[in-house]
Amino acid sequence: MPLPLKPSPFPTVTNTKWRIRRVVAGSSSNNTSPQNTKTSWSCSVTTSPTKRVVPKASANENTPPNRITRVASAAVALPVDTVAIATVATEKATPIKTPNELELQRMRNRGFWNRKWHMADVTHMLLGVGTHVLALSAPFVFNTGAVLVALVLFFMTGIGVTLGYHRLLTHRSFKLPKWLEYCFAYCGCHSGQRDPIFWVSVHKNHHKYTDQERDPHSPREGFWFSHFGWFHYHEYLAMKCGEPEIGVYSNVPELKAQWFYRFLHDTYVWHIIGLGVLLYLVGGYPYLAWGMGVRTLVVNHGTFLVGPVCHLWGGRPYNTPDTSTNNGIMALFTFGEGWHNNHHAIPRSARHGFKWWQVDVTWWIIKFLEMVGLATDVYLPTEADRKRTQLSLLAKAAII
Ligand SMILES: [Zn+2]
Ligand SMILES: [Zn+2]
Repeated sequence: MPLPLKPSPFPTVTNTKWRIRRVVAGSSSNNTSPQNTKTSWSCSVTTSPTKRVVPKASANENTPPNRITRVASAAVALPVDTVAIATVATEKATPIKTPNELELQRMRNRGFWNRKWHMADVTHMLLGVGTHVLALSAPFVFNTGAVLVALVLFFMTGIGVTLGYHRLLTHRSFKLPKWLEYCFAYCGCHSGQRDPIFWVSVHKNHHKYTDQERDPHSPREGFWFSHFGWFHYHEYLAMKCGEPEIGVYSNVPELKAQWFYRFLHDTYVWHIIGLGVLLYLVGGYPYLAWGMGVRTLVVNHGTFLVGPVCHLWGGRPYNTPDTSTNNGIMALFTFGEGWHNNHHAIPRSARHGFKWWQVDVTWWIIKFLEMVGLATDVYLPTEADRKRTQLSLLAKAAII
């Protein structure tokens, strides 16, 4: 069910009419001498939006999707001493659907449930259902030790995603020694949000195509799809991101070149199952229910809510060309990831909470790692950089 959002970025057609009037003063019908006349021009413009155009299919995949055509629809006649009227109709951006986009449309029409389920979809759906069942049973097996284990794992795996997957591996906001980078990535792996190759690939596409058709998890396709539906529909995801098939992830060659990330990618599920078995052996069912149920549920719902919530509700101090927002409540649950509008404005910044009161736990940890000499090349925009970004975004919006 589509949500009411800001005006769609997908092009509509407008008709613009220019009315140009030449006014000749001081002349009579029998005297058109240039010395006796004074000429001025007036111009008025009217623009009327028209209905959205249903794009036509194109057999040519190479056709640019946002081709802009301009059509001059009337000739201009300018008789001397009479009013000259020129009407020019301009048509803007009729997108031509490529075969890939048509297939995407067909998949959308089929819906989420009525489609081919790949092994990856089934696996992650089962893991998700298992997590919820464990979480629901957790209050009945309350145990202080189990809750403490869940809290520690919540912190480790949450930071693994926000610091490791997001700010380090996706945006390269700073550098860590390889052994420490792999430690954070391994913690992120246990969050239940899949391995770094998958996560980073999806998130890079989110930044590249924010709020467009190719955005992997835009709330334009519905709140629930943006929250978790995308995570269980790998074929659609691959097609949206322009991949030839599932499992290619062509935009993360730097990760695919490292054996450690390939290993995590190939063996991801076994690490999750292994942690579950370990918790069960150490503390029995309460440890399993709290450590794998409640903890995974909170980490995943928190992180996956950033997608819809921080593109729907919150402040927008930066006029980014998307719907990203700053949401303080989300920031509290996600170690600072809720300052999403700040992040979309300056994605490489290691710090997302730009103001002193914008709680950003992930940044505090990066700062600590820098102080002890482990984090290097930390990118932190100055106040002047942030002001410049704000002005340039405003200027861009004014031009558009
Ligand atoms: Zn975003
Ligand atoms: Zn990001």
